[in-house]
Amino acid sequence: MGTREAVFVYSSELEEYRYPPEHPFNTIRARKTRELVSSMGLLSGSGRSEAAPVPAERVVLKKFHSARYLHALQTAAKGRWDSEALNMGIGTQDCPVFEGLYDYAVLAAGGTLVAANLILSNSADVAFNPSGGFHHAGPERASGFCYINDVALACMILAEAGKRVLYLDVDVHHGDGVAYAFYKRSDVMTISFHENPRALFPGTGFEDEIGSGEGEGYCVNVPLPIGTFDEAYMKAFEELALPLIGAFGPDVFVFELGADALAGDPLAHLQLTNNVYAEVIGHLLGFGKPILATGGGGYNLDNTVRAWALAWSIFAGGEEQGKLRDKAAAVSSQQRNAVIPAIEATIEAVKAKVFPYHNL
Ligand SMILES: [Zn+2]
Repeated sequence: MGTREAVFVYSSELEEYRYPPEHPFNTIRARKTRELVSSMGLLSGSGRSEAAPVPAERVVLKKFHSARYLHALQTAAKGRWDSEALNMGIGTQDCPVFEGLYDYAVLAAGGTLVAANLILSNSADVAFNPSGGFHHAGPERASGFCYINDVALACMILAEAGKRVLYLDVDVHHGDGVAYAFYKRSDVMTISFHENPRALFPGTGFEDEIGSGEGEGYCVNVPLPIGTFDEAYMKAFEELALPLIGAFGPDVFVFELGADALAGDPLAHLQLTNNVYAEVIGHLLGFGKPILATGGGGYNLDNTVRAWALAWSIFAGGEEQGKLRDKAAAVSSQQRNAVIPAIEATIEAVKAKVFPYHNL
């Protein structure tokens, strides 16, 4: 990749939809990210362009979601939902029914599919949909603020085109919907870094969940202790993700960039700065393969917007990153003593479980 083609996926149509005001998921994050990068001149110039999402078609959605579920979601959005819908997670506190819900879910997911197709047609080396990343949704389940699993769908479409797909999830929550979608497959490797599931939703993603059958060794979970800071995170990333990615040899990355692992997120307990996201992106770019990046969690609005703007800035080859970067955070010896041994134990456990499948 000489000059990278980076595409930012957004349309003001997305602004028509809101989760209920008391809900932590704020759809305005994508607009704010776009405003910030635009104000820095990072949407113009060579190698940078924008694309608008288009609603995902039903036939594509059905590659992952059941017809019954899609019907219930569409019906609920019209104000009619019953115990059957509720049993699928639709209309719960986490996944409320709101005006335009179906149209929003299908449009936001459609942005990720637009991004996948830009990569498949060699029109983009990096495509970023900050309105995507709904990694918790299941085939027949709304879960954790997610209704349509755009990232699982994108992995499916890329794999169907014959690509080896590396799904990397740095959202603070386990990327369960995607991990389980490919649990028995070896053409899509999923790697999720997340806070210890004993402390955080969805309660899955332990080291010993490694896939099954053909997929054994192709599902990687890295649970991180409360208080994990940049240096500890990067140690785990460099010792686990880098060799696994190298051994797997992906054709394309699907990268869920939830920003809720940052310090100050109201829903989680890690202590990262956005420098971690910058370093991870630097590593991914180093593999020289296309990257489909999405948003995800991130409930501190300002921190999330800055992290995603920083991510875009790096994707788009922007020089002016300084003002987007967090200051390095001080780490107390108490925090270091609590986190490092736990991280080291996790690293050893993951190595023992997964590395042998890859001759590492
Ligand atoms: Zn999350």
